[in-house]
Amino acid sequence: MRKSLIATWILGLVIAASMTCHAGLFSVSVSEQKKVGAQAAQEIERKSVILGRDLQAPKNIGGRSVDEIVSEIGTNLVSLLGPNPWSFSFKVIQNKEVNAFALPGGPIYVYTGLLKALKLESDSPREAVNMLAGVLGHEIVHVTGQHWAQQYKKDQERGLGLAIILGAAGANKSTQQVAGILNFAQSQKYSRKDEYRSDDGGIKLLNDGRRFGYDPQGVVDMLRVLDKISQDTPKSMVWLSDHPSTVDRIKRAEKKVSDLKALPLK
Ligand SMILES: [Zn+2]
Repeated sequence: MRKSLIATWILGLVIAASMTCHAGLFSVSVSEQKKVGAQAAQEIERKSVILGRDLQAPKNIGGRSVDEIVSEIGTNLVSLLGPNPWSFSFKVIQNKEVNAFALPGGPIYVYTGLLKALKLESDSPREAVNMLAGVLGHEIVHVTGQHWAQQYKKDQERGLGLAIILGAAGANKSTQQVAGILNFAQSQKYSRKDEYRSDDGGIKLLNDGRRFGYDPQGVVDMLRVLDKISQDTPKSMVWLSDHPSTVDRIKRAEKKVSDLKALPLK
């Protein structure tokens, strides 16, 4: 009897210890997210032409260049978050693909192909600025919602995603880890739920950003413009993934925006 009691205790301790171990393995702290995100940012910037660093874009929108506009919109939206632990940065990569992505911890990149798709350099860039704010708001919420860390946790629980093991020693594993994060972020491997969450969060941010002249309608307009491009030139489109479908995202965003606009102004 006593022996079996001791055995039960030992078994209990083993289970408790293994659970603690798993909790440590699965969860990725904010500082770890910032660390791996900064490593991935270094890698992407090493391989890319960054506007304002390697290539000067003409100052043709109100006397400013597109990279300055991107940075200003991003900074304005982040100011609406209030105090937060993230290290946001907003940079433009010279690349014809239609894409934008966030790395864990805060670095956010927009491709010139996306800026062109949104016609940022047109004569009346107000609508383009709104749509770009929609994209940046969406990416900001991928960071604040810790969507990469959650996906990482799920993959670990399923025994997948071992190429992005954290805390791995040695240059090879670290390189693998960075490659895994970049592949995840650039190819938009978020879950359907997280895409919806980012659309919703982006709409809310733009609504809060009315003082900067933003309009949450920008999210709907941006999804419509990008949906058209993905039909006309599907090869150039990276930002829109198949799940959830853009038609569903547009319907959902339209409803959210009209609900918000029906609320009395504070
Ligand atoms: Zn997304």
